[in-house]
Amino acid sequence: MVLDSLGKSLRGVLQKIARGSAVDEALLSEVVRDIQRALLQADVNVQLTLELTQRVRRRATGEKPPAGASLRDFLIRIIYEEVRNILGKDRPFELKPRRILMAGLFGQGKTTTAGKLARYFQKKGVRVGLVAADMHRPAAVDQLEQLAKKVGCEFYANRAERRAEVIVGEALARFPPHLAVIVDTAGRSGIDRELVEELQRVKTALAPDEVLLVVDAAMGQAAGRSAEAFHKAVGLTGVILTKLDGSAKGGGALSAVSVSGAPILFIGTGEHLDELERFEPTRFVSRLLGMGDIQTLLERFEDLTNKEAAEHAAKAMMSGRFTLRDMRTQLDSLGQMGPFSKILSAFPMFGAGKVDDATLDATQRRLKRFRTILDSMTAEELDHPQVIKAERVHRIARGSGAHPQEVRALLKQYETTRKAAHGLVSNRRLRRQLEKQFGAGEAPAE
Ligand code: GDP
Ligand code: MG
Repeated sequence: MVLDSLGKSLRGVLQKIARGSAVDEALLSEVVRDIQRALLQADVNVQLTLELTQRVRRRATGEKPPAGASLRDFLIRIIYEEVRNILGKDRPFELKPRRILMAGLFGQGKTTTAGKLARYFQKKGVRVGLVAADMHRPAAVDQLEQLAKKVGCEFYANRAERRAEVIVGEALARFPPHLAVIVDTAGRSGIDRELVEELQRVKTALAPDEVLLVVDAAMGQAAGRSAEAFHKAVGLTGVILTKLDGSAKGGGALSAVSVSGAPILFIGTGEHLDELERFEPTRFVSRLLGMGDIQTLLERFEDLTNKEAAEHAAKAMMSGRFTLRDMRTQLDSLGQMGPFSKILSAFPMFGAGKVDDATLDATQRRLKRFRTILDSMTAEELDHPQVIKAERVHRIARGSGAHPQEVRALLKQYETTRKAAHGLVSNRRLRRQLEKQFGAGEAPAE
């Protein structure tokens, strides 16, 4: 995978947080140092690295975790967000007939990437027309023609014409309608007036929807300066970073280009036509940090903390008016977050890495049973649990196919929660209590 060693180091940091005995100053300092080392090794700019770790530190000590989240979770989330932020925003890329101008210096992978992009469109059912408008190197025209053959798309070249903008005009007139038109242009060894003027003429002739810069990741941080210069000169809508396979400087290129203002839309990960990947910071960072589906989980996590009902339940707890109905809401919120094991692995607050499968299963089963039992209760019982005496316990047990013992266990758990809430001294204690209640793992150290 791209940026493997950076990913490995960052995953190590997260594990340290999940496994550390306490989230305290010592751990935070260690984590900050580890992140700095990891980013610098991946060639991320020193200033950018320092700013990132300062923000992590400031947020970890200054902000309050959302209700229901432990410090551990919160710290992981902060790191995730900050790393994602230096990689820019997710930008959609539409796969429909559109006009795309490829720009870039010599040897950066422009022609190859034009072919890869053509395949990318065609695979999604959008027909492509490739235009060879690099008239500075005759070989470039042949190269693109070969690629067009492999991809099986339309191709236009005019070897007798020197003016790129004229070729573009001809191509547009000859191509059948409803193609995605991708124009390969000439590079230079540096960004100079000649290059900029040619690009501008081609831009006028093409009226492109996208102006994409192709940059070699091996340039490291210099890729950012290149992107900035091109952006100023011709106005980029996006960047494609090539040769990320095997580049130790990928982190530098990715972060530097991102701060230049033009979003990275694709990354090239090999010489082969299929080795082009869509770049979406959120997904990329999730993969890098080994968090799989964390995006979805974070969204659900947000739902959970925002949900009116959950808030109501929390408020009810604070005021001591916590009912069985509120408990049911809490169980539902947990249930909506998806498979339990998945939640556990994404949220160390539930003790990821410590809980064995048996405990996990037991907790999950117990919560499911509780949910079923609650369904057999009347509205009166849910809202006024004190009315549940022995006779009702038996009725509820029968109705839910549970043993009366289980109903009593539920009532006991409810009672503990209510008492904990009632005698609540601080949010922190509530959190600990809840984490204990809902099973796996230990309460977070603070
Ligand atoms: P151009 O001068 O900008 O058009 O660059 P080319 O498309 O001709 O590519 C220059 C060289 O880089 C070729 O040998 C390509 O095979 C190689 N190349 C392009 N993209 C990638 C990539 O993502 N990974 C690797 N490893 N090589 C690439
Ligand atoms: Mg070329």
